[in-house]
Amino acid sequence: MDFDVLIVGAGSAGLSAALTLGRCRRRVLLADGGAPRNAPSPAVHGFLTRDGVQPAKLLALGREQLAPYPTVEVHELKITKLHKLAHGFRAEGTTDQGHAWAGTANRVLLATGVDDVLPALPGFRELWGTGVLHCPYCHGYEVRDQPLAVYGRGKAAVGLALLLTNWSQDIVVVTDGPGHLTDYGRQRLRQHHIGLRQEPVARLVGGPGGTLRCIEFTDGSYLERTAVFLHAPQEQRSALAADLGALITSKGAVWVDKNAQTSIPGLYAAGDTTPGQQQALIAAAEGSKAAICLNEALTKEQVMQHKRTAC
Ligand SMILES: Cc1cc2nc3c(=O)[nH]c(=O)nc-3n(C[C@H](O)[C@H](O)[C@H](O)COP(=O)(O)OP(=O)(O)OC[C@H]3O[C@@H](n4cnc5c(N)ncnc54)[C@H](O)[C@@H]3O)c2cc1C
Repeated sequence: MDFDVLIVGAGSAGLSAALTLGRCRRRVLLADGGAPRNAPSPAVHGFLTRDGVQPAKLLALGREQLAPYPTVEVHELKITKLHKLAHGFRAEGTTDQGHAWAGTANRVLLATGVDDVLPALPGFRELWGTGVLHCPYCHGYEVRDQPLAVYGRGKAAVGLALLLTNWSQDIVVVTDGPGHLTDYGRQRLRQHHIGLRQEPVARLVGGPGGTLRCIEFTDGSYLERTAVFLHAPQEQRSALAADLGALITSKGAVWVDKNAQTSIPGLYAAGDTTPGQQQALIAAAEGSKAAICLNEALTKEQVMQHKRTAC
């Protein structure tokens, strides 16, 4: 095998896993095929000791701190295919120079993240990460006490609006057509003085620095807001797990057991790609945990091999 572990994806989860495995003196290839999920955002909030750091700076620091570990290689390499071998994996990919690459690894860790699927309306993509926000824990403090909107329908929109009342008392739920709200949902919005607009939305109008100025409806009316929150549907950033036949949850995440292993022996996953809360610090912790599980599985394998040879 060329490597003990191939880590696919060098966001918070992948970098953190590489650090732990480098410290275990494992031969690691960390393959990165592009920008992290939060690339459009000006800052990473809530990351212990790095609150407010630029996303690219956080990852650059992570890469810098891998440099002292000689068994860790980092490459700009998009992994396009994984083949399960009798023992380990064969991977194929394309470098950032467009060259084909292939190699083998005893184990693979997927830290490939997710993509957010934004509404196909003008303004959402343009203001993503600045005026269009996904998470109050990441950005709520920055827009505290400001006029906010929640874009969405049904129970999920009511839940997000109620959650936001901790940051602002001026919230309007914008359902962009019939809101599919229950009587109970409407009652809860009223109780918390949360407004409701069900007219179809035409577009979001931006202000200076990527902020939101207003939400414009198709009837020509508009609602002035400084930010809109939404829980966008997500897609896996890579199909590698699904292509290998790994179990995917009903919510589209890559299933893992308590040792970060997917349903495919030897294939591990960490970070946003797996179920659970999605934050950079959580992804980093999951990457570190997966690395410990990987190192222990590899150690166990070595000990068994040694025992067999000795016999
Ligand atoms: C707009 C926005 C703002 C956010 N703000 C915050 C915040 O303030 N605080 C916070 O804690 N969290 C924030 N988050 C959440 C945070 O971005 C994620 O939780 C975190 O990035 C997850 O880390 P990850 O390593 O799992 O995935 P990612 O950071 O998305 O990294 C995955 C990496 O895998 C690479 N990759 C994918 N497929 C392949 C492949 N086939 N081959 C090679 N490489 C591949 C990708 O290019 C990427 O570099 C924000 C998210 C968004 C969308």
